[in-house]
Amino acid sequence: MKQFQYIRATAEQTALAAIAKDPESNFIAGGTNLLDLMKRNVMRPDRLVDINKLPLKDIKEVATGLHIGALALNSTVAENATVSKQFSLLSQALHAGASAQLRNMATVGGNLMQRTRCPYFYDTSTPCNKREPGTGCSALKGFNRMHAIFGASEHCIAVNPSDMNVALAALDAVVHVSGSKGKRDIPMAEFHRLPGDHPERDTNLGKNELITGVTVPKSTLTHMHYLKIRDRASYAFALVSVAAGLQLEGKTIKQARLAMGGVAHKPWRLTAAEQALVGKQATVEVFQQAAEIAMKGAKGYGDNDFKLKLAPNTIVEALRIAAGV
Ligand code: SF4
Repeated sequence: MKQFQYIRATAEQTALAAIAKDPESNFIAGGTNLLDLMKRNVMRPDRLVDINKLPLKDIKEVATGLHIGALALNSTVAENATVSKQFSLLSQALHAGASAQLRNMATVGGNLMQRTRCPYFYDTSTPCNKREPGTGCSALKGFNRMHAIFGASEHCIAVNPSDMNVALAALDAVVHVSGSKGKRDIPMAEFHRLPGDHPERDTNLGKNELITGVTVPKSTLTHMHYLKIRDRASYAFALVSVAAGLQLEGKTIKQARLAMGGVAHKPWRLTAAEQALVGKQATVEVFQQAAEIAMKGAKGYGDNDFKLKLAPNTIVEALRIAAGV
């Protein structure tokens, strides 16, 4: 592993100044993904700026919804009473992710920045445009069982591996960031990128910007379910996952939110399917129609063709469980 400088920041401005001094630097909090990547020489920062001492752990109700500090632990958020009661989609997604030990170390900010689990990205002996731009994509014609069916490019077909991100996308969360030019908010839908010509960039976060927190807006959803399909019952990444939220009046759907994980380079929001559900009755037949709409434009790459059938089935099942029909 490459040697690096370690700096512990105790204030936001100190952290921002420290990161700006070296272009090859990274923030570190729980380190549950970054340290793995460093040990494998996939990421080789010259400097780590430890932000664990910053006061960014709060989970508090604010006028617009629930604010969650970037350093709140995944386990703390998952167990939080307000999250469990008002935003159970987020709580369920966090419980579905990783292991209890990892959830006790991993932070919300780190989860947002989690990198793909494409095996070629971790294997430095193989070409990978995300790790080394311009070298090619080994997954396109290689083993691509876990890979994208939506929004991929000829340069990368990797998926975002996070469960939390899928729930935050469905809940219309906003990410708060701070940088040398001040503070700004990034809607969850715009936080992660599609690979396009630059798969090395996972997010629209500026190089020297720090995630300070997330706000989940107040919700009128009455029924929610996060369904994750994976190869084993725990500690596995999603083949396909669906975050489903409905506002029901009787059986009538007043509002619908749907996002999928394991299918794209970013949490994949199903807005056309959401619109198709509004005003309809919550029935399996209606859910099947919405799933068909959601799958328009999906494309398999060989090993992952099974997702073309698994994904719509997961949408229907997540909606069915959420609605209790
Ligand atoms: Fe690299 Fe993306 Fe191709 Fe995987 S899918 S090998 S991460 S470029």
